[in-house]
Amino acid sequence: KKAHRFYNEPLLDFAVPSVRANMTKALAEVKATFPIQVPLMINNKEVRSEKIFDRVNPSNESQVVGEIHMANIDQAEQAMQAAQTAYKTWKNVSAEKRAELVDKLADIMTRDRYKLIATQVFEVGKPWNEADGDIGEAIDFCRYYARHMRELQKPLRAGFTPGEVSQYIYKSRGVTAVIAPWNFPLAILAGMVTAAAVTGNTVVMKPAEQSSVVAWGLMKMIQEAGFPAGVINFLPGFGEEVGEYIVNHKFTTTIAFTGSKAVGLHILNRASYVQPGQSHVKRCIIEMGGKNAVIIDNDADLDEAVDGVLYSAFGFSGQKCSAASRVIVLDEVYDRFVDRLVEAAKSIDILPADNPKAYMGPVVDKEAYDRILGMIADAEKSHKLLFKASVPAGGFFAPPTIFGDVPGDSKLAQQEVFGPVVAVIRAKNLDQALEIANSTEYALTGGLFSRSPANIARVKNEFEVGNLYVNRGITGAMVDRHPFGGYKMSGVGSKTGGPDYLKQYMEPVAVTENT
Ligand code: GLU
Repeated sequence: KKAHRFYNEPLLDFAVPSVRANMTKALAEVKATFPIQVPLMINNKEVRSEKIFDRVNPSNESQVVGEIHMANIDQAEQAMQAAQTAYKTWKNVSAEKRAELVDKLADIMTRDRYKLIATQVFEVGKPWNEADGDIGEAIDFCRYYARHMRELQKPLRAGFTPGEVSQYIYKSRGVTAVIAPWNFPLAILAGMVTAAAVTGNTVVMKPAEQSSVVAWGLMKMIQEAGFPAGVINFLPGFGEEVGEYIVNHKFTTTIAFTGSKAVGLHILNRASYVQPGQSHVKRCIIEMGGKNAVIIDNDADLDEAVDGVLYSAFGFSGQKCSAASRVIVLDEVYDRFVDRLVEAAKSIDILPADNPKAYMGPVVDKEAYDRILGMIADAEKSHKLLFKASVPAGGFFAPPTIFGDVPGDSKLAQQEVFGPVVAVIRAKNLDQALEIANSTEYALTGGLFSRSPANIARVKNEFEVGNLYVNRGITGAMVDRHPFGGYKMSGVGSKTGGPDYLKQYMEPVAVTENT
């Protein structure tokens, strides 16, 4: 019997008046609960700490969205103990039961969709549609991983020698440390946590400081879904303190991380050190940055190309590891493309994220704002500024910025900005375009706009990236349709929302019986 195909959760259409009205209502309701108290959750019990971190709305610095209890080392130890104890029983819970709980979690997310969107709008400054995409992706991860686990639990027969039955079986590993970023605050966290739990592992999750309110929402939904105590524990805190502690811990068997290259490589380094009493060689699933390029061929449809580049570069203020930050344009179309890109950029509405008209909101916090503005100021000294928008006051609004004729080997064309900054690079021909495209250490996403089948075939073959998109934008990977993950220095581990992802959280064992 052929399994039915996977369907992605449809997105909301805010042009529909009733949908817009629901969203407006949810925003008001969520806002009325500020500041939201965010405690830790260990063994299904709320735990408070002495150290409180105030998370402000990046669209409006004067609004405190949440008061986050930041875990200390003792509490991190308690969370690890809880996960280690829970593992003894969770590993024997059937895969079907685990998958049911994850499906239940998806149902709860579907029910609470508007509230979940509203929380992200305020906490990380995501415009409505971007936040909706994140909730949709979180639901997809749950359903996709639950479904895949049901398949993977079936033992595979290995070999066909008479007198011998040999089986290939996936087993869980133990405690998984999940360290998540703020930019897809529900989807990436929920994806890593449900992948770990559905495969029979227990979890200590450490959300990013900037998105702990969203993460707390996930923890409460997990509890409501009925996961047993200790299976998934919630440890808000600072990376340098409790993140470091759970990475180093002897109980940790797997580390799932998405974030910067510096932290990702540090985790890999720390994970290789064997602690006294450690039972497993730690495995790391590490997703890091990008310096993603889009190549514009001579015969590209420029309307499509401008649209695709604009959204890929400036959607959620460029704060996606998949975002376009280099556009490599063939000489023949360079001037035409650049003129149109700049004109299109002028039409971007930069507004507080709760405004339905916001194409772009703020960047996540003051630190990001200062860093991005510093990088723009630095780039202005040596590159041709083509466009820099004016931005509203009162929040961390970084201007969408475009530089032209940027040399492919300059700092601006090599370093990840993680903000709304694009370097346009001129190339003589496709050979040179590909050479420039492949010249960064990162290799996460890449794009090509072209109408030439031969050039498309060549770029598919030669552009070294984890996710290549032809004649469309390069962000917004969908579960199942676009399994997502990096190549080269962008990461190690297989693709999220793809057929190999869950296997990384498990260990295949072979059992052979002489019959
Ligand atoms: N999966 C997201 C996308 O395709 C990017 C994830 C990230 O920024 O970490 O746009």
